[in-house]
Amino acid sequence: MKNGPWFLGIDLGTGSCKSIVVDEKGRVLGFGIGLYGGTDPESRWQEQDPRNLMDAAAVSVQSALTRADVARGGCLGLSMGGALHSILALDSRDNPLTGVITWADGRGLHHAEALRGSTTAIRLYQETGCPVHGMYPLYKIMWLREKRPEVFRATHRYVTAKEYVFSQFTGQFAVDYSLAAGSGLLNARKLRWSDSALELAGIREGQLSPLLSPAAKQGSLKPDVAHRLGIPESTPVVMGSSDAVNSSVGAGAVSASQATCMIGTSGALRVISGRPVFDENGRTWCYAIDEKHWLVGGAINNGGIAVSWLKDSLGPVMPPDQSPGELSIEHILDLAGQVPAGAEGVVCLPFFAGERSPNWNLNARGVFFGVTLEHDIRHLSRSILEGIGFRFRSLQDALAGIGLDIRQILASGGFAKSELWLQIVTDALNREMTVPRWSETSALGAAFWAMLGAGGLDRIEDAGDLVEQGKTYRPIPENAALYDQIYTVYLRIYQALLPAFDEAALLSGC
Ligand code: ADP
Repeated sequence: MKNGPWFLGIDLGTGSCKSIVVDEKGRVLGFGIGLYGGTDPESRWQEQDPRNLMDAAAVSVQSALTRADVARGGCLGLSMGGALHSILALDSRDNPLTGVITWADGRGLHHAEALRGSTTAIRLYQETGCPVHGMYPLYKIMWLREKRPEVFRATHRYVTAKEYVFSQFTGQFAVDYSLAAGSGLLNARKLRWSDSALELAGIREGQLSPLLSPAAKQGSLKPDVAHRLGIPESTPVVMGSSDAVNSSVGAGAVSASQATCMIGTSGALRVISGRPVFDENGRTWCYAIDEKHWLVGGAINNGGIAVSWLKDSLGPVMPPDQSPGELSIEHILDLAGQVPAGAEGVVCLPFFAGERSPNWNLNARGVFFGVTLEHDIRHLSRSILEGIGFRFRSLQDALAGIGLDIRQILASGGFAKSELWLQIVTDALNREMTVPRWSETSALGAAFWAMLGAGGLDRIEDAGDLVEQGKTYRPIPENAALYDQIYTVYLRIYQALLPAFDEAALLSGC
């Protein structure tokens, strides 16, 4: 058993809870995962059962502690990160009136769309840093108000999944600035709840949690929770941040010239800036982290989900003798690697799940352009990966347009397992991309806030020195030059199709 001091980071993600134990130098001693049971994968509404969250958190902490084999009294602090954009309504006894409505839930889309382009939308963006989009809880509350008035009337408070679990840990409700910002209800410059957003939602400030800085110490553990986790009640609990912020901090992207490129199911390009940065065209978002830092970036719907779509479409039609077992992502990546950069003229607009940043076009749809009889599934595979790369190029350009000149990129998410995919995105962005050695960056970032709150770190920028970096990918000049040209074509195709996207949406009744 190790006797030195240690810190605990808990990452309450959308699909699972991950916990990490690190020593004073940020070295990983143990890691554990707890899955959320009981979510209906077929549900049109993306809700999770809040009762599963605490169980998953406890399982992940216990498993990380067992693997770390540390003296339980050595914990100098713990912090919890939470997924952005979730919301849960609680009654006057703090019992759930809804499930945890996740970012992927589509109920707020129509309320958001009704505001698009209005002066209210522009004012809201300038105040909250959130473009108009139904993923923000603001619009989900508007949906509840209209469609579930009985729930809306009975709601005593609205919380995110993390606040709910945090209250079970400490007995108190509190929220950090970035999770608050992800609701669409925070004034991003003044760091207080936005009067305009509250009015639009039709709720009072008292229905939201008190705001806290992520490094703030927020009491200690309730006895039953301490007992269940197997750590002392006196363990300092630090507020912590959101998974998006933690993913950047845990990847070591802590200055404004660095960005994290995350491709998991969806994807995002994010920068930690020392000032709030807004885009007059509302292409990017800006979430407060603390009094001195803001997370600025853009997110795409179609990351790994686009590749999974191709895999899932092909799987059932493969003759049994040619598909030993299930078709995997690795098969698709292997197919993509069999054709050269540029996919021999096939260009993919990977809007299979609509578009978020930078144009927030719900009507955009997936397109394969330039397909001839000479092309086959290998070209489609490669063009999807390249199309995702071009989506990131659009985000990079949007960030450059508001003064964030990215020089170094840190990779995170499932795509970082594939050398081919990393090289394609590196070439599309024409920037060096480095893969941190520890891939669970959100959990590591949560542990860094625990360190910061407990005095083990002076500034969050210092976390960058604790992150061990792995392989760096460099742009291949001829591929980068080719992608420059194809990107122009990609943008032309997108522009040309805008009216068709809208007409097709009307026809299909969307
Ligand atoms: P999330 O946390 O969003 O669920 P992950 O970060 O785990 O997602 O990434 C999942 C994505 O990673 C999948 O959609 C898939 O496209 C991609 N992926 C899975 N396996 C591999 C692999 N071996 N190489 C590259 N990408 C992969």
